[in-house]
Amino acid sequence: MSVAQTAAPAWLAVPDDANALPDAVWPAGADRDAEGAIRLGGVSTRALAAEFGTPLYVIDEEAAREAARMTLAAFRDAATRHGTDAQVYYAGKAFLSADVVRWMLAEGLRVDVCTGGELAVALGAGADPSLLGFHGNNKSMIELAAAVDAGIGSIVIDSFDEIERLGAVLDGRGVAQRVLIRVNSGVHAETHDFLATAHEDQKFGFTIADAPAAAARIREIAGLELVGLHGHIGSQIFGTSGFEESATRLVALLHEIGGLTTLNLGGGFGIAYTSADDPSPIADLADGIVAAVARACGGLGIPLPMLAFEPGRVIIGRAGVTLYEVGTIKPVSLDDGASRLYVSVDGGMSDNARTALYGAQYSARIASRASEARPQLSRVVGRHCESGDIVVDHEYLPADVAAGDVLAVPATGAYCFALASNYNYVPRPPVVAVRGGEARVIVRGESIDDLLARDVGLAARSIEGNA
Ligand SMILES: *Cc1c(COP(=O)(O)O)cnc(C)c1O
Repeated sequence: MSVAQTAAPAWLAVPDDANALPDAVWPAGADRDAEGAIRLGGVSTRALAAEFGTPLYVIDEEAAREAARMTLAAFRDAATRHGTDAQVYYAGKAFLSADVVRWMLAEGLRVDVCTGGELAVALGAGADPSLLGFHGNNKSMIELAAAVDAGIGSIVIDSFDEIERLGAVLDGRGVAQRVLIRVNSGVHAETHDFLATAHEDQKFGFTIADAPAAAARIREIAGLELVGLHGHIGSQIFGTSGFEESATRLVALLHEIGGLTTLNLGGGFGIAYTSADDPSPIADLADGIVAAVARACGGLGIPLPMLAFEPGRVIIGRAGVTLYEVGTIKPVSLDDGASRLYVSVDGGMSDNARTALYGAQYSARIASRASEARPQLSRVVGRHCESGDIVVDHEYLPADVAAGDVLAVPATGAYCFALASNYNYVPRPPVVAVRGGEARVIVRGESIDDLLARDVGLAARSIEGNA
């Protein structure tokens, strides 16, 4: 039995102008040139596609820096109003490369890493190790030793096992290491809502009930210097209520444990992926969260701790745009009599896993030209052997979209490059930074040879073949 379907979701409006670049979703300086091509950082996307090929990750450097400055200012200002200070760590997992690390440090941020690989990028970029934080639920002895030996600013301890591991690493080294306790506050927030329970059923951190015992054990180990608590309640969060509930719980715990100076409330601040999304401005979120900490501290009669935050997406998300070339186009009739245009592009779930992984929504525009054609309900799909290989699930594209057009998908700066794969032996695209009319490669793309080089069987064959 076939069920009639509504072709377009309720949130998707038919655009008045399918060429427009809404501010909420596109980097601030994005516009169209005299020929109608989208420009990013003053560079034509048509020129970018011609020079660097597609798919291509484009990062607008000024947009990333501006978001970093705004975020830092928002938290600093809110903290200052309540008589404390705030540090902002850029969450490297959202998008990490040497240039991005340098931009963040230059704008006054610190950097947060969660593996030895991310640590190596940050250190390789020349970061002062004291400005780095290290978290993660299963750091190895080798990773912990690398972080301690580098002189990392702080390590967020995630488990009783890790207390002992880090103690073993410190044993005989004669150095002190600042640490925080990751707390599973029982609050999990997503977009508009949050769920608050005694403890959240997930892998990260200590329960509130276990945290005092963790603190006591840490304080028994020479070299471990416990400075505070850390919580992170989720990602792509639009309002402050979940943060406020978690902050209230963590402040009570801070008071109970005593002797702690720092409260790190993590990241998770949401961005608009489509015009239907309406996240609170970061300054409002910062105000609400810091005010909640102040209320909780006031209630207990304790001074505000030093605050720390770890935003990733809100800094780098809107700075990134992915360019693709359109290939096969296929109209598919739907049961309700409507039709949907399947627009295939030369990338897909290997360069943007978020749609397949999280059901994420994106928007898209023809980048290489403006079009006056009527808007047609479309789905942008990739080139992989999976029906779930969708880049943009629902969008109205001009009905004359054609093979050879460059298609741009905005708000792809966070968790796209970072989550890229080689599925179907597709090489990962390069990353180009644009600024002031100039473009430069900051991460080179992979070639098929890069991929084949790892296959030992292929190497052996070519040696035999050459013999
Ligand atoms: C993922 C993560 C972040 C960053 O999250 P965003 O949603 O990108 O802001 C910060 N802190 C921790 C501990 C995380 O796991």
